[in-house]
Amino acid sequence: MIRVENVSKKYWNKHTGKEVQALDRVDFKISENEFVCLLGPSGCGKSTVLNLVAGFIRPTSGRILFTGREVSRPDSDRGVIFQDPTLFPWLTAQQNVEFGLINKGVSREERSQKAMEILRLVGLDGTCHMHPHELSGGMKQRVALARVLVLKPKALLMDEPFSALDNNTRERLQDQLLQIWESRKRPVLFVTHNADEAAYLADRVIIMGFPGESVRKILHVSLQRPRNRFSDRLRKIANSFRKELSLLPCCIPVGGKELLNKESINY
Ligand code: ADP
Repeated sequence: MIRVENVSKKYWNKHTGKEVQALDRVDFKISENEFVCLLGPSGCGKSTVLNLVAGFIRPTSGRILFTGREVSRPDSDRGVIFQDPTLFPWLTAQQNVEFGLINKGVSREERSQKAMEILRLVGLDGTCHMHPHELSGGMKQRVALARVLVLKPKALLMDEPFSALDNNTRERLQDQLLQIWESRKRPVLFVTHNADEAAYLADRVIIMGFPGESVRKILHVSLQRPRNRFSDRLRKIANSFRKELSLLPCCIPVGGKELLNKESINY
């Protein structure tokens, strides 16, 4: 359903006057119901991949296909959720969720009904009249999720959506996301630098390495769902991801490039 085909991306760094090779021939697929995490240290190109799939930027070479068509611009069929929920501060939670439906010409009554339905799904029906400044970080992120879900996207693209939240809230939101995904399966591309999060959420984990590298490893997590986040097996899998990450420098050299073997391993 999502195909990242031999994609390279170079940026122009206006400060150094040099090109930065962020991605080099990155190649992977995400099938219809699959939950895929992109895992890697800061600066390895995870957000670049997500922004390319979202259609916010174009590849330098290669192409991105979504449902067989080349991605050339953003579209609400690929719903994007960022770390920062960026809600409209002057609108209530419900109005924020309704906003995208206005452009689609949905009537006022139907907008209100759909927004309430989705706010209930994310556990926020009691707070629909509150403004963003009255909501906690976790609640704001739930509104951001509702705002995307109300448009019925065919795929979800999530860029470290829970990384600014405290541990407890993050775990509750992970569970809620999984419930929503289980109730209506669709491809999810979820960017994270957190090995535990990747092991708990993903069917498959794509480990990214240095910038200018292609995919370092693709790891299948074949644990049954619902998963027990306290189980030894899950901890072992997360530790193996951690080990992969420990082989990488924590501070990536800009434009650094080292090509390594692509491997695929089953857990
Ligand atoms: P990650 O999401 O893994 O932290 P990014 O995709 O944000 O990594 O960045 C990958 C590399 O591309 C980094 O070296 C970063 O500095 C560079 N980069 C990202 N966006 C731009 C940009 N707009 N202009 C120049 N360089 C960029």
